[in-house]
Amino acid sequence: MYVCGPTVYEYPHVGHGRFTLTWDVLRRWLSFNGLDVTYVSNVTDIDDNIIARANRDGRTEADVAAEYETLWWEAMEKLGVLRPDEIPHATAYVDQMIETISTLLASGHAYRIDDGVYLDTARVPTYGLLAGQPLESLRAGARIEANAQKRSPLDFALWKAAKPDEPAWEAPFGAGRPGWHTECVVMSLALLGEDFDLHSGGQDLKFPHHENERAQAIALGRPFARHWVHNGWVVIDGVKMSRSLGNFTTLTDLLARFDVRAYRLLLLRAHYRAPIEVNETTIADAERALERLDTVARRFDLTPLDTSRPVLRAEHPELEAFADEVAAFTAAMDDDLDTPGAVALLFELATRANTVADAGDLTVARAIAELLAVLAGSVGLVLRGAGDPIGEGAQALATARDHARAARQFAEADRLRDELVALGFVVEDTAQGTRIRPK
Ligand SMILES: [Zn+2]
Repeated sequence: MYVCGPTVYEYPHVGHGRFTLTWDVLRRWLSFNGLDVTYVSNVTDIDDNIIARANRDGRTEADVAAEYETLWWEAMEKLGVLRPDEIPHATAYVDQMIETISTLLASGHAYRIDDGVYLDTARVPTYGLLAGQPLESLRAGARIEANAQKRSPLDFALWKAAKPDEPAWEAPFGAGRPGWHTECVVMSLALLGEDFDLHSGGQDLKFPHHENERAQAIALGRPFARHWVHNGWVVIDGVKMSRSLGNFTTLTDLLARFDVRAYRLLLLRAHYRAPIEVNETTIADAERALERLDTVARRFDLTPLDTSRPVLRAEHPELEAFADEVAAFTAAMDDDLDTPGAVALLFELATRANTVADAGDLTVARAIAELLAVLAGSVGLVLRGAGDPIGEGAQALATARDHARAARQFAEADRLRDELVALGFVVEDTAQGTRIRPK
């Protein structure tokens, strides 16, 4: 699978977290089922924004890109997103891009104007397929920034002619630098071959980015991606998150303030194509839900699974004893990644493990808890078990209860105590405030 990666000139934001987590879940799920997944995700290390930042800060583009790429991988590691198998960098593929553009010029699919080389979209049959809109409305939308020399407002730059104070590469069609759409098509074809299975990215990449990648592949006579999968965007207080609106929160900020697993669970509880609201309330809610799962892992003293690589079904023969449960989970995941359905089954297993244990059958209860941990691990969700008696979420509830009591909000304090009890804690009042311990 090929996943369009970051342009490295700023802190990763919450939307970046959504697409990387979504495709990490898909990758892990395919691997869990025994497929041999090759995951390629690029880093765009040259573009207008990187150049602007480098000029503003008086640094080189390479320096800016290296700094923000480091921050990117740090955030990915905290999120538990597996490293891609290949991480192609745009600047390392410029020779291949020049070759591709030369081929498109020679076949008449591309043309040269003053500011670069453009693809002639009118010569690409099925152009507009991914956009899912009539060409006329696409043209009307593109006309706003139309360049008078372009044959159609939909034509896009394969190569941007060199400008003063910008890095440039020599090419037979004039010095310049590659366009973003060319970068991804060249690198995906170079690393994944003629026709690969999945091309993924955020919904906002469908058009024009993916459409334009696809247009070049078709013009080259290459089959390209068999399936396209796009995730929905992140909404903050009802408004689509975007750079242009400036309403994004950095992922680094979110990871510092909440349990790093909470964002994954928040996403798993929604369908990947649906828009999702990310704010303090929804993240805190996911944290509390996580606590319900962690409580089970702690009750049975489970050792956390190693999710630094995909969990594999074949390595867990104990799943066979729960064929119905595993089949139900699989049916949900295989139905266009119905993660809300799959996660609901995880919570049912958590309830069942507790109920069976309360009834005294600890062996069966423990087996159910282990099943829960493996299925959660299959989508990259690791439960905190042995050696981690009280999770951050439960501790936060205990602190909130102390605050409520200090403010004489006794109904709220009682409600929080009930919530902790429901999570499987014994709640005690001490001189130091609320003390909790697992049942
Ligand atoms: Zn791309």
